[in-house]
Formats: sequence, structure tokens, C-alpha cells
Amino acid sequence: MKIHQTITILLFLLSVFSSSVTAFPNFFPNVSSIPPSFLPNTTTGAWDSFNKLSGCRPGQNVAGISKLKNYFRYFGYLGNNTGNFTDDFDDALENAVRNYQRNFNLNTTGELDESTVNQILKPRCGVADIVNGSTTMNSGKASSMFGHTVGHYTFFPGTPRWPARRRDLTYAFDPTNQLSDAVKRVFANAFSRWSEWTPLTFTEVSNYNSADIKIGFYSGDHGDGEEFDGVLGTLAHAFAPPAGLLHLDNAETWIINDVFASGSSSAMDLESVAVHEIGHVLGLGHSSVEEAIMFPTIASGLRKVELARDDVEGIQVLYGSNPDNNGTTGPLFGEREINGAPRGSSVLVQMLFLVFGLILFVF
Ligand SMILES: [Zn+2]
Ligand SMILES: [Zn+2]
Repeated sequence: MKIHQTITILLFLLSVFSSSVTAFPNFFPNVSSIPPSFLPNTTTGAWDSFNKLSGCRPGQNVAGISKLKNYFRYFGYLGNNTGNFTDDFDDALENAVRNYQRNFNLNTTGELDESTVNQILKPRCGVADIVNGSTTMNSGKASSMFGHTVGHYTFFPGTPRWPARRRDLTYAFDPTNQLSDAVKRVFANAFSRWSEWTPLTFTEVSNYNSADIKIGFYSGDHGDGEEFDGVLGTLAHAFAPPAGLLHLDNAETWIINDVFASGSSSAMDLESVAVHEIGHVLGLGHSSVEEAIMFPTIASGLRKVELARDDVEGIQVLYGSNPDNNGTTGPLFGEREINGAPRGSSVLVQMLFLVFGLILFVF
């Protein structure tokens, strides 16, 4: 009897323990520390079923198109119609695909070609690319004479930002998440990426309710009308100023301490996603510049935490530069300028040769 009771109690404790574990986000210091038995559960992404739509084109009717229409509606590419979507590849979907392709620098075929489907499958931020039908990403711009547009930073409609008297912002973590200091340090680092280039400062406070920026990990429907979708798919979302809400998907496997990029995992680098979402909290929308932090998608396992020139230019339109950090050209940008220089100088050299040749020809 006693052994039976002990086993029952043990089983009860085990079930309580395992259910409480699943209620908290999963953090691992790096990819190699994730138990192999854990990873197979995370290989089925929220959008994997879109894989079979590769090759679909306008006029076709294919099972699963309606789900893709919901995807495009969620990210602002299809109007907010209340009815159920059909599996018809109709004109509205073709238009949505074209706008999506423009925003992600793909060939605007209007078809679900392989590169478009591959882009759709990538885990991404839950904030829409087209907000209230308007966008300043590529699809909202007139094409240039070369047939493609030059993407750059965007803002939310109406350009909301933290008011000028609010330069020292506070942030706090939802106490129900019981985050470790190591996880909190990841966010401190992410905030410093933005304070480096702006007059803004960010200080952690313990009072969650009175903090300017409220950070929390949640599962599924969590009360703001933007439910999370489980493993991969949407990773996080945040709201324009002055809402200050920054939410991350509890269902992801988060890497918190891996300084080296590793593209082979279905785990996500927490700081990379945090830096992106802080951009939204401060007022930036999505950018078509792939190197920019504000590009909407990120590959699993990839670490991308350095602001690109595009991000810095965007945030400085809203808040100006950091008075303690002279100019916008740090080492990162200096290197890029050097990389870009030979192209400009080679044109100059060619012109000099041309002029020299003309002089020789004349004499
Ligand atoms: Zn985003
Ligand atoms: Zn939320």
C-alpha cells in the first residue's frame, strides 16, 4: 500500500512539475545545450502547410489557399473582410502576393514561386507589414526608373513616437513569467543597441504596472486580440508608442547566450527578436532592407543584433542622435562605407582615364 501511495504522490508531483514547466518559456544558453529529445517537437512550424502551395498561380483552386489568405490578411496584404476565404487563387490574392514580393525584394510574379513560398515560411514578427491599408515599405512606393524601389525604414501611420519630455523610459517584466537574471540581461543588451544611437535611456524597474515598456511571454490568445500561433510562425509582437507593450511567444525555444550565429536550429535568438520588437515600441515599422533589424523575418538560429544604417537613420528621424555618441558613423558603418567606396572611386578613375585619353587623342 505504501509503495502504491508513494508512486501516486510521485506521479502527481511529476504532473504538477511538468505542467508548470510548460507554462514558462523555454530558454537555453545556446543551441548545443538544447536536449536532442526536445528539438523534434519544434520542427513543425505554424506555417509548414504552405509548403505544398509552391507553384500555385492565379486562377487555380488548391486546398490550403484559404489559410494562406488568412496569413496575408493578418499581415495587412488582404482587406479585412469578415467572411470566410475560399481556396480560389483570385485577383485579390494575386495582388497581395505582388505587394508581398515587392516588400521582400522578390520578383513580382504574382505567383507562389519557390522563393516566395520560402520567404512566407520564415518565422517572423507578428506586426503587420501594411497597417490600416497603408505602407511605406516597398509596395507603397512608386517604382523607380530601374523597375525596383529603394526600401528603407518606415513608421506606423501618423508617426507615433514617445513625446519629447519622455527620453528616460522604464521597462519591466511580467512578474508571472519569473524570468531569470540571464534573460533580463538579454533585454538590457537589446535596449542598449537603441540607446547607443539616440538620446533615449532605458532603466529596468520592478513595478510592472507603472513601467513605460511592459515585457511578457505569452501563449496563444493572451487578451490583446493578437494571438500567438505556437512554435515558429509569429515569434513576437509589439505596439506603437505610447502603448509600450512587447510580447513574445511562449511556445518558441529561445536561445539567450549564443554569440555565434547558427542557422540549423529551430530555436530563436532572443536578443535578435528583442532588438526588433523594441524598434516597434519606439515607433519604427518594418523595413524592406534585408540587413536592417526592422526587416520582418529572421531565420531560426540566426543572431542579428547590430543596428544597420537603415535602423539608425530611422530611429534618429524620430528622436535625434545620441549627444554622447558623435555622429551616426560608428565602426560598423565606417566599414560599410569603405566597402562601398571602390565602386564610386572606380567610376571616378574611369572618367579620369577617359579625360586623359581625350587629351592624348587631341594632342
Ligand atoms: Zn516587426
Ligand atoms: Zn500580445
